[in-house]
Amino acid sequence: MINHWIDGKPWESKPARTGIVYDPATGLAQDEVALASEADVDAAVAAAKTAFPAWRETPVTRRQNVMFAFRELVVAHREDIAKILTREHGKTVPDAIGEVQRGLEVVEFACNVAHLVKGEFSEQVSTGVDTFTMRQPLGVVAGITPFNFPAMVPMWMYPLAIACGNTFVLKPSEKDPSASMYCAELMAEAGLPPGVLNVVHGDKVAVDRILAHPDIEAVSFVGSTPIARYIYETGTRAGKRVQALGGAKNHMVVLPDADMELAADAAVSAGYGSAGERCMAISVVVTVGDAADRLLPKVVERIAKLRTGPGMDPDSEMGPLVTPEHRDKVVGLIDQGVAEGADLVVDGRGFAPEGFEGGFYVAPTLFDRVSPDMEIYKHEIFGPVLSVVRVDHYEDALAMINHNPYGNGTALFTNDGGAARKFQSEVQVGMVGVNVPIPVPLSFYSFGGWKSSIFGSHAIYGPEGVHFYTKQKVVITRWPDPVFRGVDLGFPQHGR
Ligand code: NAD
Repeated sequence: MINHWIDGKPWESKPARTGIVYDPATGLAQDEVALASEADVDAAVAAAKTAFPAWRETPVTRRQNVMFAFRELVVAHREDIAKILTREHGKTVPDAIGEVQRGLEVVEFACNVAHLVKGEFSEQVSTGVDTFTMRQPLGVVAGITPFNFPAMVPMWMYPLAIACGNTFVLKPSEKDPSASMYCAELMAEAGLPPGVLNVVHGDKVAVDRILAHPDIEAVSFVGSTPIARYIYETGTRAGKRVQALGGAKNHMVVLPDADMELAADAAVSAGYGSAGERCMAISVVVTVGDAADRLLPKVVERIAKLRTGPGMDPDSEMGPLVTPEHRDKVVGLIDQGVAEGADLVVDGRGFAPEGFEGGFYVAPTLFDRVSPDMEIYKHEIFGPVLSVVRVDHYEDALAMINHNPYGNGTALFTNDGGAARKFQSEVQVGMVGVNVPIPVPLSFYSFGGWKSSIFGSHAIYGPEGVHFYTKQKVVITRWPDPVFRGVDLGFPQHGR
């Protein structure tokens, strides 16, 4: 049984409700996870609230030291964390190690927090008057995270929030909860005082209590668009600061002059990596002019060589999907694509590796001649399904992307610098790659899409993350000068 982590230790009381944690490779239930009641959430928030005053007062250099120690522990246990991810999520071990690495980069960014929370100072803004700013923590903040990056996405949040002086309640995905528990233990080993990081597992009951709790100041959310919208609207109505990152439908445009070998490698890697369960996965390849005729054979050739199998098998390049419900949803959308008349070039339905017939597998699937009115175009499939849409001109490709409700990531493949420059300026998407299929910024930039891929004005991690987890205070000082004593009801005059 995977239970909560509250006040620096495992939560003892037996939960009234539990959920199943599957091994996606075999399809068998491998564990149970506690689903928090409102009282469990309240206990975690109370621990975080109690821990806040002392943590806020802890010198920033000492908070940094905890992050340095945590960083060392994550490096030492990188493979252990990766194997936990593979066991519960299904992704391959090398892919899981990459996930830990990308989370680690945010921990490293948080090691530098003393520099990041520095204020500004202006001497003599008026006679004898100085002005300075400082950034202070908010208090108790919460994070609600999705199943697809069970280590990395929480690390987009808690290291920076905690380094800034906040205390944290994390509600990870109930589908793959163990990585968060493991990391909470590592944080305690790194010297984090009890109550500064708490983990509660659960579903809508836990989330709704977080959104309503009067002692939670801010909520970071990453997940699907309908839930992100709900979190943003409900949380802000309750007076909280909210950043809510949603789903995606990422287009990769291939111009006729592109390096087709490079584009085919990119489409296959970004379409089928992690079985398409990435918010930055390429879902639609938009080919311009005759690009499709030259690109498609190369994509098909690469798909034929891909090995789908259990994530723990070193020969597997792509693992299973996370749950049977998710597998059924992806298969249902493929069925619908066929019914709507898209050209199914490679069919991944009905596949299972030998000995793993119960696992949640869908092999790489490729559709050609998809059109924007089809369900496979409209939905974020979140599975190993690539759709090719053929258009005549660059302008058609641009209009399609700009018309799409999502705006997380996009990419252009071309050797024409002028075309690339035009695209990066005109496209209505938050993260843009030029001959780079998955343009995820490193931790010293911030991550965030546009349109229905984000709700709220702060992107996550990086400098925007620091701003989200702190509030600015401005202080104006004047040390009494006998020359200017006396009552004066007017606005101070310039230069006085
Ligand atoms: P999800 O929205 O179903 O769940 C996310 C979190 O919300 C989980 O912790 C879950 O327990 C909770 N939740 C689910 N239903 C809820 C409800 N009705 N009320 C309250 N809380 C609820 O998302 P998921 O399936 O876990 O993750 C996949 C989605 O996340 C995809 O849409 C993907 O694009 C998105 N995602 C986005 C980013 C990004 O940075 N924009 C990154 C990773 C994943």
